[in-house]
Amino acid sequence: MVQAGISCTVFEQASSIDARPRDWNFAIYWAQSPLEQCLPEEINNLLLTAQVDNYIPNAKDTIPVFHGERGDKMKEIPAPYSLRLGKKKFTRLISRGLNIRERSFAFSANKEKLTILQYGKCISSISTSKDAVTATFEDGTTHTATLLIGAEGAHSLTREFLLGPEKAALIQSPVVASVTIARPAAAASAMAKIDPRANCWFHPNGQFSWASVLDSYDKPDIADWDWMLIQTWMQQEPTTLSGSAIIEDMKRRAKEFADPYRTIIQAIPDQTPAWHNRLSYWPTQPWDNLGGRVTLAGDAAHPMTFRTQSSYFLEDDSGLTIYCTKDRGQGLNNAIHDAATLLQQLRAMPEKTQEALAAAVLEYEKEIWQRGKAAVEGSAQNTLMVHDWAKMADSPLLKFGTVQKVDMQQTKAETVS
Ligand SMILES: Cc1cc2nc3c(=O)[nH]c(=O)nc-3n(C[C@H](O)[C@H](O)[C@H](O)COP(=O)(O)OP(=O)(O)OC[C@H]3O[C@@H](n4cnc5c(N)ncnc54)[C@H](O)[C@@H]3O)c2cc1C
Repeated sequence: MVQAGISCTVFEQASSIDARPRDWNFAIYWAQSPLEQCLPEEINNLLLTAQVDNYIPNAKDTIPVFHGERGDKMKEIPAPYSLRLGKKKFTRLISRGLNIRERSFAFSANKEKLTILQYGKCISSISTSKDAVTATFEDGTTHTATLLIGAEGAHSLTREFLLGPEKAALIQSPVVASVTIARPAAAASAMAKIDPRANCWFHPNGQFSWASVLDSYDKPDIADWDWMLIQTWMQQEPTTLSGSAIIEDMKRRAKEFADPYRTIIQAIPDQTPAWHNRLSYWPTQPWDNLGGRVTLAGDAAHPMTFRTQSSYFLEDDSGLTIYCTKDRGQGLNNAIHDAATLLQQLRAMPEKTQEALAAAVLEYEKEIWQRGKAAVEGSAQNTLMVHDWAKMADSPLLKFGTVQKVDMQQTKAETVS
């Protein structure tokens, strides 16, 4: 909105970025260019400082995949130029672009453009009239505007408003996850030796483990690094893990793994906070945007399960290397594409009228409905696959994890599709 020269207010339910204890890291694998398009130059210039580490991404970046039981490296999954961002650091950085008050002539002469960020505003209901939409917040205040973009995550109230509780309901995945942010100092060097950024482990018993650094930025001593450690597995029966039992359970599960993963998990301090939940998703379906007044973006529009990057390099006879991503999952990467698509449509508006805005919103939605559905369904499938050893071994993830020589006609078709 800021980039399109349109006044907007961002409402966030938390009282500040640091109000919520949980942080995590996420990687930009295939949304680097759209991200750059969405951010002002001064923020783009600082993007690397929002990374979890001091690493400069490059064309040769990979994520190592290990055999959980044997401990040997099975593949290096290409992840070229992947930015690994800390969620809070990144949110803090992009929030810098908000709360700007400046003179703007986007709509009419002498009208002030406001881009405001308000914390402590939890949206509780939405109503629309012929030419406006009003959000009501839990504190009883209201805000009326021309367009409301519900970007309040997987449990979106806006999605429920647009589609009704039944159609908007999340689907529960058979996969559950335990996540902790830990400093396994006693095993720090073993951890960093595997890979100082990220690594994953597939166990033939169907357990999947992920480790990525959450904070090593300007930290010369690896014992001070924080890691995000995730374990996921299939579990049909209800899960009751909570409190210190989560770390206890992670340690028990890690005993089935080879070293150094096994030892690293045992080194997590027992009282480290951890979270446990069942994964859920919602295959995107079209909604009625009520004349272009209400729409969705990000996880609200396409909540999806974790996805393991499955992309690969292809090399033609002349040595040209092409980067292909067969399946484009990952929530943040999709959320950034949403923002870039909307920006493109807003910039293409022939005039700043409500009719033109409604048309732009609809064009944006046509793209997101299709991409969101494919990403959510692809991720749900990928999540099941990585917990099924027989299927996983036969997957593109392991089959095409390296540079290959291929038929260029086939490559072109895959790149376009
Ligand atoms: C452990 C983990 C690792 C991940 N790794 C990756 C990765 O490597 N790559 C990737 O692409 N994706 C990754 N993801 C997914 C990614 O984090 C999400 O897709 C992304 O954060 C979605 O952004 P969002 O703004 O749409 O939603 P959210 O990040 O959920 O933000 C929604 C915001 O809305 C606020 N809110 C909620 N309800 C209300 C309300 N009623 N009123 C006002 N405000 C409200 C919330 O407080 C929150 O700040 C990962 C997710 C997790 C949990």
